[in-house]
Amino acid sequence: MVMRPIIILMSLMLTLASGSAVQAAPPVKVPVAASILPLADFCRQIGGERVEVQVLIPVGASPHTFEPSPGLLSGLGRAKVVVINGAGLEPWIGRFLKTLKGQKPLVLTATEGLDLIREVTDHAHAGEPASGHKTGHGHGHQHTHGDVNPHVWLDPVFAQDICRRLAAALITVDPEGRAFYEQQLQQYLEQLAALHDKIASTTVQFQIKEFVGFHPSFTYFARRYGLKEVGIIEVAPGREPTPRAFQAILAAIKRYGIRVIFSEPQFNPRIAHVLAKEAGVSVLSLDPLGGRPPYGDSYIKLMEYNLETMAQAMK
Ligand SMILES: [Zn+2]
Repeated sequence: MVMRPIIILMSLMLTLASGSAVQAAPPVKVPVAASILPLADFCRQIGGERVEVQVLIPVGASPHTFEPSPGLLSGLGRAKVVVINGAGLEPWIGRFLKTLKGQKPLVLTATEGLDLIREVTDHAHAGEPASGHKTGHGHGHQHTHGDVNPHVWLDPVFAQDICRRLAAALITVDPEGRAFYEQQLQQYLEQLAALHDKIASTTVQFQIKEFVGFHPSFTYFARRYGLKEVGIIEVAPGREPTPRAFQAILAAIKRYGIRVIFSEPQFNPRIAHVLAKEAGVSVLSLDPLGGRPPYGDSYIKLMEYNLETMAQAMK
């Protein structure tokens, strides 16, 4: 403990010498777990070298169908901060956290407090009537009541809000790092604001505002930038469109002059290619999660890639 002021002084001198304001990392990094890559990248951007980030859902897996292994759960049990998306994306995490004894991690739920979009998961009005699930509403379609669309991270303005709350959570568990986290947050918020400006100024020039998505992942993105999801190929993971839903998507493609429909790397694109062939359009891939070339684990690069892909299709 006697050594401590000296270490701080030395690190301060090093900091001044290198011209960077980055402070020394603590000897033991704060263990942080995040369910999906974009949330993990926020943790790395704000936590920097003070944190050690574990991603719970690996690249290639869809969070909608993911089942965790016991090894992953024990790693999660060591985390001091757990960042989840919520809104039904990781139902297994809540169950696991309840079983933890002793020190519980601080859980940050990304969707909390955000203006969420209710999700219509069963488009029976566009497809065939779902047998055995008659709700008696009498208006010809069904909603799964209480369900919301979970994909909030794909809205860069919401991302800023999530990052502010994340910085606060890191400061709570590691108060000595306050100045560091606040500085990291400020820098990253500026980058996210620049990303938002770039997306806004690009999408405003799109000739075609309507698009057909693979699953309802870019719904918040669409709302933020005045775009419209006019067709969803799989309303639920692995559920191929009914013949009537298929026809409805074909009609939307014609009506809006859509040239490209989107697949996603976490899902089998087969049905997107069948649909594209039938409609005489092409298929490009949008990625809601990241972790692949050329964007790697960077949320900002991922969003720039998605923007470029949309621009190819909709400009
Ligand atoms: Zn999804």
